[in-house]
Order: sequence, then C-alpha cells, then structure tokens
Amino acid sequence: MAITADAFNNLSDAGSSVITLVGFRLAGQRADKNHPFGHGRLEYLSGLLVSLLILLVGVELGKASVQKIFNPEPVVLTALTVGVLAASIGIKLWMSVFNRSLSRRVKSAAMAAVATDSLSDAVATSAVLLSLVIGHFTGFHADAWAGLLVAAFILRAGWGAVRDTLDPLLGKTPDPELVRAIEETVMRHSDISGLHDLVIHDYGPGRSIMSLHAEVPAGGDLMALHETIDALERELKERFGIETTIHMDPIVTDDGVTTALREAVEHLVREVNPQLSIHDFRMTAGRTHTNLIFDVVVPFNCPLNDRELEQSVRTRVRALEDGKYDAVIQLDRSYV
Ligand SMILES: [Zn+2]
Ligand SMILES: [Zn+2]
Repeated sequence: MAITADAFNNLSDAGSSVITLVGFRLAGQRADKNHPFGHGRLEYLSGLLVSLLILLVGVELGKASVQKIFNPEPVVLTALTVGVLAASIGIKLWMSVFNRSLSRRVKSAAMAAVATDSLSDAVATSAVLLSLVIGHFTGFHADAWAGLLVAAFILRAGWGAVRDTLDPLLGKTPDPELVRAIEETVMRHSDISGLHDLVIHDYGPGRSIMSLHAEVPAGGDLMALHETIDALERELKERFGIETTIHMDPIVTDDGVTTALREAVEHLVREVNPQLSIHDFRMTAGRTHTNLIFDVVVPFNCPLNDRELEQSVRTRVRALEDGKYDAVIQLDRSYV
C-alpha cells in the first residue's frame, strides 16, 4: 500500500512538473492587444494547480492509510524495494534543492510550490522506507501509521502552497520592504513633503503598476513641479521596474491658520481612533462657515463603521470653534 501511494505520488509529480513548465512558458508571453498587462498571473495559476495536486495526493494517501490501518497486510521487504525507494529519496531531495534555488533566482511561486512538493515527497518516501524496515523486523504495521503522518505533512505543505499562489491572484498587500524603499525614493526630492494613497497592482512577477499622491507646495511653480514629478516617475520605473503614475496634491505650508487647523484635525481624528490619519487637507471659506476638506485613511481592522466614523469626526470638527467649521470627509482604505 505504502509503495503504491508512493508510486501514485511520483506520477502526480510528473504531472505537476509539466504544469509548471507549461505555465512558465505561457506566463513569459509578451503583452498583447487583449492582455496589455502581460500573462504573468498564469504562473500563479499554474502554481495553484500544482498546490491542488499536492492536496489531492495528501487526501488519497490519507484515505489509503486509514484503510490499511483497519485491514493490515503482511510487510514484504526485498533488496530491490529498498534500493528503489532509497534512490527515489535521493532524487527527490536533489530536485527540491534545485527547484528551491531556481525559484529564488527567478522569483517564481510556481517553482517554489514544486520544491515544496519534492521535499514533502522525500519525507514521504523516507517514512515509507523506514516503516517497511520496522515492519520487516518487528511485524508491527508501522507503514499505515507512517502513511497517515506523511499525508498530514503533505496536506500542510499543500495548503501553504495554495495560499502562496492564491494571495497574489486575489491581490495582496505589497512587501513592506518595497513600500519603504519606494517612500524613501519619493521623499528624497526636496519639493515633495509627503505621499499617500500608494497603490501597487501586481500582474505577475516583474509586472507591477503603481500610483501615488505626492504632496507639493501649493505656491510652487507648476511647470517645475511637474518636471520633478515626471523625473520621479522615471526614477521609480528604473529602480523598481514598476510603471508609475503620480498625482500632485498642493499643500498649503505658508499659511499659519491652515497649518494650525490641520494639526487640530489630525489630533481630533486620532482621538476617534489612534490608527487613523488624514491627508489632502484644504479649506474653502463660505459666507456662514468654512469647509474643512480632507481624506481619512481607515485601517481594515477599525472597530467603527464608516457612518459612525464620519459622524464622530464631523461632530468633533463642529465643536472646534462654535460651529464655525464643517468637515467634508472622504474615507480611504490603505492598500499598502
Ligand atoms: Zn491625495
Ligand atoms: Zn505629466
């Protein structure tokens, strides 16, 4: 039984290798009219298929092991069996190491999934071999229990691989290291006093697109600022290989009233919830009162719902100077 499971496992490996190879080739296709963002996500899809195959093997092995526990068969051990299993372990270990280093070099989730698969196979086959040896010398049917343990191991590895390939397909939070490096690059420009609303879309390895808002002085020269922004877009493209669009937000820095009010609003927003932050603060004076217009960034785990949050902030803004100010709020989610 254990050997049959192992053989079945090897067959599914051949299948997953083919899927990975085909996926890699398809993902490498150039962008075309119908797919201007390229075909990179196909690699995540092939990785997902491989992960599902790993899960299938885990389920099958688990089922067979449980059956074997209830219907034990005598263990037969020959020199040939031992030799074949040992060779199989060696090959699997080598494949795992090879695919792991390759996946690091080309940053491929599909290849990482294959490496995980090979490693779990090596462990599975080792357990099969060990249990056969134990069964041979003691008569105890260890191979069924070993099979069950291995099935659990394979299922766990498969689930991890599913998550690794599913996350980028759904769109996941970008690597915080990358975000920090991008922010550093942007903030190196003295004309830019801040940034917000950074969004990165991942269309597959090496194919990302992002947009961000850069805060520039409201009184600055538009032509000069635009030149800075254009240069920054090119710089980001060169450094990170990410196509970038930057939106300019004018920030009033030389007006004491605006600055004081912005600080007051920052403070009261943090009172509502310490995780909240604001940006794009501006004010428009009307006849009876002044509108304070700003965006509030709301984290996904914020306990208040949008309505409560807006109410709470507006009430506090109204209380600022006897109802002199009204808040016009736009709620934002953070994409990084
Ligand atoms: Zn903005
Ligand atoms: Zn432009």
